[in-house]
Amino acid sequence: MFGSMMDRPLLVSSLLEHAERQFGGTEIVSRETSGALHRYTFREAASRSRRLARALAKVGVAHGSRVATLAWNNHRHLEAYFAVSGSGAVLHTCNPRLHPEQLAYILNHAEDEVLLFDTTFLPLAEAIAALCQNIRHYVLLGGREVMPDSSPLPNLACYEDLLADSDDDFVWPEFDERTASSLCYTSGTTGNPKGVLYSHRSTILHSLALSLPDTLSLSAHDCVLPVVPMFHVNAWGIPYAAAMNGCKLVLPGPQLDGASLFELMEREDVTCSAGVPTIWLGLAQHMEKNNVKPSTMKRTVVGGSAMPEALIRTFSERFGVEVRHAWGMTETSPLGTQGSLLPKHADLCAAQQCAQRAKQGRPVFGVEMRIVDADGKELPRDGKAMGELMVRGPWIVAEYFKGEKPALRDGWFPTGDIATIDTDGYMQITDRVKDVIKSGGEWISSIDLENAATGHPAVLMAAVIGASHPKWDERPVMFLVTKPGHVVDKAEILAYLGDKVAKWWLPDAVIFLDGLPLGATGKVQKMDLRRQYGDVLRGAAA
Ligand code: AMP
Repeated sequence: MFGSMMDRPLLVSSLLEHAERQFGGTEIVSRETSGALHRYTFREAASRSRRLARALAKVGVAHGSRVATLAWNNHRHLEAYFAVSGSGAVLHTCNPRLHPEQLAYILNHAEDEVLLFDTTFLPLAEAIAALCQNIRHYVLLGGREVMPDSSPLPNLACYEDLLADSDDDFVWPEFDERTASSLCYTSGTTGNPKGVLYSHRSTILHSLALSLPDTLSLSAHDCVLPVVPMFHVNAWGIPYAAAMNGCKLVLPGPQLDGASLFELMEREDVTCSAGVPTIWLGLAQHMEKNNVKPSTMKRTVVGGSAMPEALIRTFSERFGVEVRHAWGMTETSPLGTQGSLLPKHADLCAAQQCAQRAKQGRPVFGVEMRIVDADGKELPRDGKAMGELMVRGPWIVAEYFKGEKPALRDGWFPTGDIATIDTDGYMQITDRVKDVIKSGGEWISSIDLENAATGHPAVLMAAVIGASHPKWDERPVMFLVTKPGHVVDKAEILAYLGDKVAKWWLPDAVIFLDGLPLGATGKVQKMDLRRQYGDVLRGAAA
């Protein structure tokens, strides 16, 4: 027997309609590419989104058409989020830091028909245009004053003109909630990037999960600043969740350095934020140097790569900001875990609490997790057994766009991450499958080593790779970037690590660099380090 409740579809447009009706006067503050701040409300954002939907329909964007963006976190990008998905088309957010050839590959693979882009990316749009014959219309996200005198881009239109020529009487269509709403490509460190096609249903369910008290805990009392780019997994769903909860939304545009972020947080009374660890490192450095701390910021969700325990402590003890360490992937929308503590942790000392927070958290309701061995057999949840992390749930990818290589194994998505799960359900990532260091048949966790090293007062950033070794197959090599004005050598680092990791985990070499190679989403590119340094131990004694 089925229940007899209404079967109303869960649609992205309903978020904006809700925000307009219930929180119409709530502010959205957006940093323009020029650096100026733009302010308006959800009411105006909703009206402009309807105008954009109408304008896109006029140029032939239909149900299922793909519309690409190359844009910062700003109000026009937000309007595109709702206008494109709300009208039944698919929003394809592209990472402008990709190599132009890789960008052209994904634009062609997605068969995008329209490209909306910020002024910063005009040269990039012009560089890929000849390679992307599908794109019929280019729209520059700005007013007439930013339009170039001439451009080779076909049908180049001015965004503000399109909106001015359009009406806001567009009515959001109703359709099946399983319809695709947005498309995001994986970073593709091995092989070509793969498309993950989110649905309206998965997006709404994910927004609900993101809003929960132990996740980002969003309400109309919050002012949220997504530092995570709107081109990276839908800014972790924050634009949708902000509309759902009526949060004031602050979009930082291109200025993501510590000083700019701090100034924006203070000016707009930001209460919570989200971003990758490298962003928080920049902010912490700025605040330490200037001896300031945030006055309204209470919590931040951090993920994308492991947040070092030392940085969690700095934020908690020095700046009074709670770090919620979460794990996720493009394939998981991305929220997989939430990083809050349990009541039993209340009695722990501050240092022990930070150690607990350095784990990648517990699954949010809706996401199931388990770890398996090489034969796919489930491993115990004892905090010790390490295996590949498998996940399933209503906002986890079932297969890649265009059916590329079915992603699932026995109905579970293999994440490619190696993890432990403890008796409380806290998951801890020890490595990517391809990064784990196999030394004499045993595994060494590069993340644990990096975490331990960043606790040293002179260390700013650390990365560890497995380098080929004549006797042990692989041995760890550590790369360190020191804080300005600090000096440290290999012997001191090894002595420091000595009581923090097993003796046989200690790196065979410690190499000091001016900086670490970072990829398009701010993660350390270990592939590059392996390419350059993978053989440094070849001459070591067997
Ligand atoms: P992406 O799809 O580019 O967002 O990358 C997802 C990958 O980032 C995951 O499979 C993990 O390897 C890594 N990752 C995400 N969050 C964390 C975290 N909190 N700690 C460690 N690694 C993480």
